[in-house]
Amino acid sequence: MERIVHVPLEGRAYDVVIGPGLLQHAGQRIRPFVTRPRVAVITDETVAGLHLDALRAGLADAGIEMVSLALPAGESTKSWPQFSRAVEWLLEQKVERNDVVIALGGGVIGDLVGFAASVLRRGVRFVQIPTSLLAQVDSSVGGKTGINAPQGKNLIGAFHQPTLVLADTAVLGTLSARDFLAGYGEVVKYGMLGDADFFSWLEEKGPDLASGDMQARVEAVARSVQMKADIVVEDETELGNRALLNLGHTFCHALEAATGYSNRLMHGEGVAIGCALAFELSSRLGLCSQEDPSRVRAHLKAMGMKTDLSDIDGSLPDAETLLELMSQDKKVVDGQLRFVLARSIGEAFVTADVPQEVVLSVLQDALADRPQA
Ligand code: NAD
Repeated sequence: MERIVHVPLEGRAYDVVIGPGLLQHAGQRIRPFVTRPRVAVITDETVAGLHLDALRAGLADAGIEMVSLALPAGESTKSWPQFSRAVEWLLEQKVERNDVVIALGGGVIGDLVGFAASVLRRGVRFVQIPTSLLAQVDSSVGGKTGINAPQGKNLIGAFHQPTLVLADTAVLGTLSARDFLAGYGEVVKYGMLGDADFFSWLEEKGPDLASGDMQARVEAVARSVQMKADIVVEDETELGNRALLNLGHTFCHALEAATGYSNRLMHGEGVAIGCALAFELSSRLGLCSQEDPSRVRAHLKAMGMKTDLSDIDGSLPDAETLLELMSQDKKVVDGQLRFVLARSIGEAFVTADVPQEVVLSVLQDALADRPQA
């Protein structure tokens, strides 16, 4: 059932191995990359309680000893204080230039540990062992690492590609339904932005995937990773097509800011709502058919996902304020808002040519559909 996606970046190529039970064999996979049989693992407290022992045993099987640090779970860990704690701990553990650091966890741990590895002794290698669906299909591949600043999300960081990614699809079994579906938001995004067949496949197989069908999970993660790898290889540092991966993100970032980056809206949930809004905007601009946004929303709803602004609990600011929050996004270039829009499901493109009044009308109508407080 195992799949391998190769990421052929020149001089920094690596494999993403996808399948159930990889933790148990992590040692064999990592052995070729270590010069001495010792690795430093950083994880979060939730994942540590669930999966650290399995990793320890899997490494020990290949004679690799492990030291570990568990940081608090959650987005607030992507901060200077936890970052310096991680870096200083790695130095205390005497991690050397040729050693390998392992990130075991979701996107928060992957981003923070990857960034720590990029600056430690001017760069050490790191292995991603992503444990959330979002991390398996998105954040563990492509080399974007970093932490948040008080001024905004992901504003401090570096490009640092991993040496190996082990996406053990069995560990997805301990994710909460909400975390799983938030990750699914990113899976379905790949179909919407560049692969109509994948979207149709997800319409059919999505419910099996959610209910734990391992074959379907491996297939969905592999197809998502392949798509991300193709885009990253073409445009590693996001000068062009890598921006397609931001489908739904301009709306999502405004909604995340409006909800204070709180538990009211997870990133993947914001992406799903953002994708629905991006298709609505595309349809109003006459770029795609009116059926496309309906089909997108129908699939998200069928999966039990947040789809509309009315699915976000609590109050939201008005449309003008949301638009203002969008223009604070770090992807704004020369003051121009850039959107990923679609000509159809599976055919997205990037444009700065979007009349603000149309964006405003999409937001106004979406807000009007919310029940009055
Ligand atoms: P996360 O790391 O906070 O994980 C979500 C929750 O799931 C956490 O509470 C975590 O403890 C828990 N968890 C993880 N694996 C688990 C498992 N197997 N069983 C039970 N619980 C588990 O968040 P995330 O959703 O994985 O990632 C979001 C982060 O990823 C954001 O900070 C975002 O900016 C970043 N991101 C980065 C990139 C990139 O390219 N680097 C891309 C997308 C998102």
